[in-house]
Parts: sequence; C-alpha cells; structure tokens
Amino acid sequence: MHYGRTMREAEGQRTFTGTGVGRGVVAGPVLRMPEPLPEPSADPFGGDVTLEQARAVAALSATRVDLEERARRAGGHAQDVLEAQAVMADDPALAEDVATRIAAGRSAERAVFEALATVQQVLFNLGEPMAARATDVGDVSQRVIARLLGRPVPGPPESDEPFVLVAADLAPADAALLDLDRVLALVTSGGSATSHTAILAREQSLIAVVGVAGAEQFEDGEIVLVDAGAGVVTGSPTKREVRSARSTAAERVRVSPRSPGELADGTPVPLLANLGSVASAAGALALGAEGVGLFRTELLFLDRAEAPGVAEQADRYGELLAAFPGKRVVVRVFDAGADKPLAFLRPDDAEPNPALGVRGIRALRAHDEVLRDQLTALALAQDAHEADLWVMAPMIADLPEAAAFATLAKRLGLRTVGAMIEVPSSALLAAQILGVADFVSIGTNDLTQYTLAADRLLGPLGPYQDPWHPAVLRLVKLVGDAGLASGRSIGVCGEAAADPALAVVLVGLGATSLSVTPAALGDVRSELRRYTLEAARAMAMDALSAASPAEARAAALA
Ligand code: PEP
Ligand code: MG
Repeated sequence: MHYGRTMREAEGQRTFTGTGVGRGVVAGPVLRMPEPLPEPSADPFGGDVTLEQARAVAALSATRVDLEERARRAGGHAQDVLEAQAVMADDPALAEDVATRIAAGRSAERAVFEALATVQQVLFNLGEPMAARATDVGDVSQRVIARLLGRPVPGPPESDEPFVLVAADLAPADAALLDLDRVLALVTSGGSATSHTAILAREQSLIAVVGVAGAEQFEDGEIVLVDAGAGVVTGSPTKREVRSARSTAAERVRVSPRSPGELADGTPVPLLANLGSVASAAGALALGAEGVGLFRTELLFLDRAEAPGVAEQADRYGELLAAFPGKRVVVRVFDAGADKPLAFLRPDDAEPNPALGVRGIRALRAHDEVLRDQLTALALAQDAHEADLWVMAPMIADLPEAAAFATLAKRLGLRTVGAMIEVPSSALLAAQILGVADFVSIGTNDLTQYTLAADRLLGPLGPYQDPWHPAVLRLVKLVGDAGLASGRSIGVCGEAAADPALAVVLVGLGATSLSVTPAALGDVRSELRRYTLEAARAMAMDALSAASPAEARAAALA
C-alpha cells in the first residue's frame, strides 16, 4: 500500500502522507499528546491495607463522577461511549478485584493497573467488536491511576495558543471534548478514514490527517502545515508553501452556497445526509442537506435488551420524516452484528469473525419478527408524513436476498424499496438486483473491507480501508453501469463520498446521488461544481486503470 513518507531532507523539510479528513489547510505549532503514565511498580506494598483500599475506592468513584460529567458535556454519540466508561469505573466486580489485589500486597495503583489490564486482555481475546472497547478500558485505567498519583489525567495538552495536536490516536473521552478554539488540526499515526477518530473529527469539522506513519517524529513547537485535502503534513514549510496551500483551499471552497448539489454542466447530484439520530436532522438541514441518504436505525436502539415495539418505532421514524417534508429520506433497517452489535439481534452461536458472520440482512432474516415489526413501523410513519420514504436493507449478497426483502417490504406497505451494495457479490450482480430493487446505495465502508479482506476495525489494517483502491472503484463502476442501463437511482453513502475528489470520481462511475456526514456537505458541493459529467467520467476512467489507491488518486487529479 502507499502510505509512508517522503523525506525532503535537502530542504530541511519532512513531508508525511496519510488520510485527510475534510479539505481544510492550516499551519501551526505542534503539541504532542503526553506520554502515557509509566506502569506502576509491582514491588510489595508495605503500608496499611485498609487505607490503601479506601484510597482505591475513592479514586474509582471520582473517576466515575468525572466521566459522567464529561458525558453530559459531550452529548451525541460520544455521550454513550463516556457513560459506558463511567459504568466501567464504578463496576463493583472491579472494586472487589482491586481490593483483593491490595490485600495480596499490591499498591492501589498497581492493583488498578492489573485489574483493568485483565479486563483488557479478556476483551482482546473475545475479538471484534469487543476488542475495540479495550482502548476505552485502558483510558479508564490511566484516569484512575493518575488520580491516585495526584497527577494530571493524561490527555490533550492545554495551551493559550492555537496548536496542531499530534497523537498516536485519541481515546473517545479526549476526542469528544477537544477545545476546538485551540486545536487547529489533528494529526494521528493510527486510524483510517473510517476509524472512530476520523469520524469524530469529521463530525466536529476538525481538520485532520489520520494514519500518518512517522507523525511521532514531529517535535513540540515545530511548525507544520496540515493539508487535509491532499492528506499531507509538512514539517517546517516555507512561506510560499503555506500561501499556495491556502489559496488552493480557498479555491476549493469558494463555491459553497447552500444550493442543490450539481456538476459544472448542471447535472444534478442530490447531496443527502448520513444520520444516526433524529436530533441531528436540524443541523444537516442547516448545512444544506437535500434529504437523508442513510439513516442508521440500529443506532437508535443500541442499548436495548429487547427489540423496540412497533408503536415506539413508528413514533421515532415519524419524528425523522416530519423534519424532511417533501424530501427523500432513505432509512436502513437494522444493521446488527460486527461493529454494531444489538442485543436483540445477536447470533445464536459465538462467531470467530463477526464481520463475516450473521450480520445485516442475515441477522434480520434469522429474526423475522424483528424485521416485520420494523417494516410495519416504517410503513405507518410513511403513511402519516409527507417525506418521500425509501427503505433499504444492509449487506444484501445477491438477487434472492434482495427479492425476498423487496417482496416483504412491499407486502407490508412500503413504496420504495432498495438494497445496499456492500458485499462484492452484490456489486458483481448489481444488474440482477436492480431488476427487483427500486434503487441501490453503495456502502463503500463495508465494500472496501470485504473487497480487500481487511477488518475495518483493525487499526494496523487501516491502510487497506481506502476506497480509492482501484478494485473498489471497479466494483462501483459495475454498479454504475447497471444503474445507467436500468435508469434506477445509484446512491453512495459510505465515507468515500465525503472525500470531495473521490465524490467526483464516484459520480463519474455512475453514482446519481451522494450521502455524507453533514459536515462534509459544503466541501463536496463545491468540488462537484468544478467538473462537468464528461470530466468526471474521464477522471474515473483514469483512476480505474491505476494499480494502487495512491496512483488512482494521482491519476484522477492529474
Ligand atoms: C458502509 O458500509 O459504507 C455504510 C454506509 O454502512 P455502515 O458504515 O453503517 O456499515
Ligand atoms: Mg455498512
């Protein structure tokens, strides 16, 4: 893969590449995330055991209070993550384990470290998606130990001057509460375009380049130029470079009125929003969303042990539709499994590879009553509101699956029914699927993960999660060609559509609408205006014949 760095030592400069989030350009001094706390000593503890146990209990409960407070301030998705961490810190089983370790001769710091390291190990051993939570446990451990040591909790540095934050990666507790008046940009050595950090950065419109191998070499105070559009971080840039990067960025965003998405020749490309809550509808509309291209219904019910009932669901979907009268709203039925586990759609048996397991439409077909209730609720909401409701299923693999879903949804009263194209098999068979689906929407996050056989949750495989890969683009072209032949709507709702240059290529490959996180709408809208359909098709053709994601990008933009 292409990630890496190019040294320009003769000029005293260092240029590193990664995955840019957004299109902004900024220059400023580096401040690095502080090193984690050192591992507490395992030497036998000789003091008063009861006092030491009380100290540990106090630190655990103070950490819980602190995390609850952070959760309240964060709101949104981050709030759920922080609340889960608060519960972890206050877990009676953890307190008991820590007390036992202290009684066996450990200091409070060491006991907390060992007890939470054990929990982390258990999570790692369970594999994804639980392994991803190990980072959150590690963060709780650092917070409790810092409190016991009377040291500041390791977290983003504070400064009166604006700075570029350089880190290996960010814990959710840190990413959610960055001081956006001070943090000019974020550069991380870990992460990919779909990692938690990138998604949070995008949500907050923070300029970021993630997956930058070598980022740790930047020193505190060193001036760097962060160009998210190009995915490049340059150390000690010249004034000319800063000027030129800034003027390119200004050119990119000059055309950003809240007008409909279209190409330079007037070809319409509706720009829709990816949403996970009804509360985010107003923000999306304010940023010019022409509707919703992906509503992730599973995010509404992540904390439920039992499936929500028809009436409750109909109310929630009704609230969403009421926010978009006369506009298209594409709702996805529950996509449970792998990175989005739902207790009420759990596979019957443990799965060694959940991404290749009973997820998406497979889980729904195994729990037919849950699917029927959801479709019934959607039909009720559809009939009570003026929005144009489209309903689609995740992880469709082939024609029989698409046909079974379309037949059931139509029988239950839904008017417009489609399939997500996220598995290579369904891209290869798109022409067949479009025979029974009213529309398709390409989920490039999963399509990339399955095309490259690289789990999207695994940090070290982040470089594979690059939708510029020509193999992914070729599959998108197959879907686009099938769309052209059938005259049906071909949406793209994965993170790929939020990369402005790639958005143009996707339209060149046959996408007829794009759905992105609301913060990306302005950048994508202005980039589309720079190209005619003919130019977008030419860029797409150039990208298709490349041999790697970097080559595809370079060829498209040449
Ligand atoms: C995708 O896979 O691209 C997609 C949009 O769905 P999700 O990210 O929710 O799996
Ligand atoms: Mg998906």
